[in-house]
Amino acid sequence: MYYDDDSVYENDDDFEKEEVQDQLLLPDDLESEMADLILDVRSVLQVSEGMARILLHKFKWNKNSLLDKFYESPDTEAFLVEAQVIPKTTQPSSTGEDDCDICCSFGELTGLACNHRACEDCWKHYLTEKIMEGGSSEIECMSPDCKLLIEDEKIKFYIRDKTILDKLQRLVINSFVETNPVLKWCPGQNCQKAVKVADPEPRLISCPCGTQFCFSCCQNWHAPADCALLKKWLKKCMDDSETCNWINANTKECPKCFVPIEKNGGCNHMRCTNKSCKFEFCWMCMGCWRSHGTAGYQCNRFNEGQDANRSKHRAYLNRYLFYYNRYITHQQSLALEEKLKETVAAKMAEMELKGMAWIEVQFLKKSIDALAKCRRTLMYTYVFAFYLKKSNHSEMFENNQRDLEMATEQLSGFLERDLENEDLVTLKQKVQDLTKYVDRRQEALLEHCADGNEQDLWEFTENGV
Ligand SMILES: [Zn+2]
Ligand SMILES: [Zn+2]
Ligand SMILES: [Zn+2]
Ligand SMILES: [Zn+2]
Ligand SMILES: [Zn+2]
Ligand SMILES: [Zn+2]
Repeated sequence: MYYDDDSVYENDDDFEKEEVQDQLLLPDDLESEMADLILDVRSVLQVSEGMARILLHKFKWNKNSLLDKFYESPDTEAFLVEAQVIPKTTQPSSTGEDDCDICCSFGELTGLACNHRACEDCWKHYLTEKIMEGGSSEIECMSPDCKLLIEDEKIKFYIRDKTILDKLQRLVINSFVETNPVLKWCPGQNCQKAVKVADPEPRLISCPCGTQFCFSCCQNWHAPADCALLKKWLKKCMDDSETCNWINANTKECPKCFVPIEKNGGCNHMRCTNKSCKFEFCWMCMGCWRSHGTAGYQCNRFNEGQDANRSKHRAYLNRYLFYYNRYITHQQSLALEEKLKETVAAKMAEMELKGMAWIEVQFLKKSIDALAKCRRTLMYTYVFAFYLKKSNHSEMFENNQRDLEMATEQLSGFLERDLENEDLVTLKQKVQDLTKYVDRRQEALLEHCADGNEQDLWEFTENGV
């Protein structure tokens, strides 16, 4: 078979290289993963399935560290007592009829190895309540001071209701994922999948549902900022949300004629809609656009000197708003560019109708994906930059940021405005060139940041001052 454009395949290779170790697991897969581990442990420890599950849970589903600890303990009993799956002292269990300590009615009492007993109704009531609360899948004995954890088999002895048992199974699976360091739920809405990695560290996970997230903190993928910076930043934005509200507006006034301009695309190169004005300006700094297309581009650089005469607090606030404004603008652009996907899909269909093969029109899809990827990176460059201390290295970072920002606005502007203005051959050439260029700029920026991490070049401030 012959394709005139192999770039689509190049990209697929990259994708596989990155994702090769990850496994996506549905609840059924998770159940069988869990069952395998439980079986392994039972073959050594000779305990019930429910006990093995509780033990593995204690050891964060790391079978080896469980077994190591087991071999270190003086005896099996001590080990199981320590893990709260058998009681400290086993009394001869009393059976038969008596007054229930909970409800005081007389009848047949049953209980656990700790010899805490109650009537069947009280156990049922207690366990149902615990399960429906949805807290932990590890449920302690009903007696207030008893820490004994109840085996799954015991729970199932008292609870027969399918809905409650299903809920219990969900709790069990959930705790399997949440306590297991190599597993994470995909945070995508209505996505039932968990991802399993070989090496749990912060990195980009792409779920087939379309969600891209950080394996470590489950937030949106946030390179070049690390998880700790992002956490600090998000907290700050939450605390200062009042201050920031005005920036979130989708309408601003033209800096020249003051006519209100609404932003409905992602591109930040604005043209005043007032026919007698048509002023071209930048949505982020509200400055004239002319300076943005040249080497004199300064839009991403905060000018510390400008605020020298203002109060310290005011200067700090201005600095924060500068970075926040750019962060939130790229986020908005990312959302607005969702609409571009439809335009581009329509364009692709049109090109296919005009005789181009499916594979030949994929460059447009690639360009949209690259645009979204770069918007996201740009967003988080402003988190990185907000906390970054000034140095020669930070200046280099800002140069890379500027280049990526310019390239991204160029691609965005082209896809928004010029798709219809070019013949198909020129269009393809231009889009491919712009896409390759943004990709290169993004790689260069992230590589520089990663190198800096390795060589310990980056110094961060506690709170952006
Ligand atoms: Zn009772
Ligand atoms: Zn007990
Ligand atoms: Zn997903
Ligand atoms: Zn993270
Ligand atoms: Zn105007
Ligand atoms: Zn600007």
